[in-house]
Amino acid sequence: MIFGFTGHPIKIIIPFAAPLQTKIGKVPEYLIRIIILLYNLVLYNFNQKFNPPMKKPAFCGMTLKEVEYHFRGRGVKQDHIIKAVTSFYRKGVHDFSLMSYIPKSLKRDLENEFWPGLTLPVRSEESVDGSSKHLFIFEEGTMSEAVAIPDDGRMTVCVSSQSGCRMGCPFCLTGRSGFSGNLSAGQIINQVLSVPGPNKTDHVVFMGMGEPLDNPDEVLKACEILTSGWGLAISPRNITVSTVGITPTIKRFLDESDCNLTLSLYSPFADERKAVVPAEKNYPAEEIVEMMRNFPLKRKRRLSVAYVMINGINDSARHLERLITLLRTTSIRVNLLPYHKVPGDINEPSPPDTMAYFKHALVTSGVSASVRRSRGADISAACGLLASGLRPLTFNG
Ligand code: SF4
Repeated sequence: MIFGFTGHPIKIIIPFAAPLQTKIGKVPEYLIRIIILLYNLVLYNFNQKFNPPMKKPAFCGMTLKEVEYHFRGRGVKQDHIIKAVTSFYRKGVHDFSLMSYIPKSLKRDLENEFWPGLTLPVRSEESVDGSSKHLFIFEEGTMSEAVAIPDDGRMTVCVSSQSGCRMGCPFCLTGRSGFSGNLSAGQIINQVLSVPGPNKTDHVVFMGMGEPLDNPDEVLKACEILTSGWGLAISPRNITVSTVGITPTIKRFLDESDCNLTLSLYSPFADERKAVVPAEKNYPAEEIVEMMRNFPLKRKRRLSVAYVMINGINDSARHLERLITLLRTTSIRVNLLPYHKVPGDINEPSPPDTMAYFKHALVTSGVSASVRRSRGADISAACGLLASGLRPLTFNG
């Protein structure tokens, strides 16, 4: 904006105008105006260079309440705001000018005041089993990976919640790649909206890079956007947050969300678990299981334990017996997963027979259990393998 073309601002920003008049007599009005114009143009360019206009906020990641708050007191109908937010998340209309059933003035304001906030993957790899892994780089240099898993008309997206991770689990490639920041709710939702796939996403799992409950504010906000009617309207029963266990934020997640929770156990013995999951030192799994046992569950909400089975490490009769003792009187389900080797690793997954035996023994002892297959191991997209392809990094295009 250029100040000083008329009246009051001229007097303020041209302090030398009056002395000019007295020193050299009557200066023509038009000359003063030209001087003012030049002065203001210099000022304008200086401001543009050193105080650039504020960057527009990203629309992706905003809740309905936040958009309503943005337009408060401006006479915009709530119904039109709901339509704009729903069009963006649920109908996939990310160009504000193409949104239906909202007035032109709101489309123009949305375009002027927001950018959509969507970032496409810079690199994608496809697995022989149909799943695909996608690398996103965000403006501030953080990165994340998401895995798209199509299956029988379903589409699951495994999202990252952090760029790297600070939990330091020694077996995990994400943990080894360091930590460069939390992802915002918008960056988490961006992964769901921007992964290519044959079907609309109807399941989301927080099992990518990072510990979701180390970033609870943004993860809870992302869950709200995923599950709300104005958002992606995915059932909370189809959203699972996976954690190695941070007791205070597990409690908060259970209270503030209806989504499922799964605890990565690795071993039912604290001393063994500590060696694989450093978080065990501060937040023992036994305490977390106790909290999950006592939490009053709403219908169909699922609390589970992920048990990655490693041959000769955590698949003995002793482990099985302890698992049964720990979980028998709870409604917690056990998901048995095959271990995936990481480079330089001497460990092997448990044989399928051992996994089937664990399942049988758990179920016959009253513990709900299933054997899960992992997808995308050939592109390092399986549990514990994300971030393996991040270095060295090459960009597309
Ligand atoms: S296993 Fe999960 S919590 Fe542990 S370092 Fe890897 S990403 Fe982080």
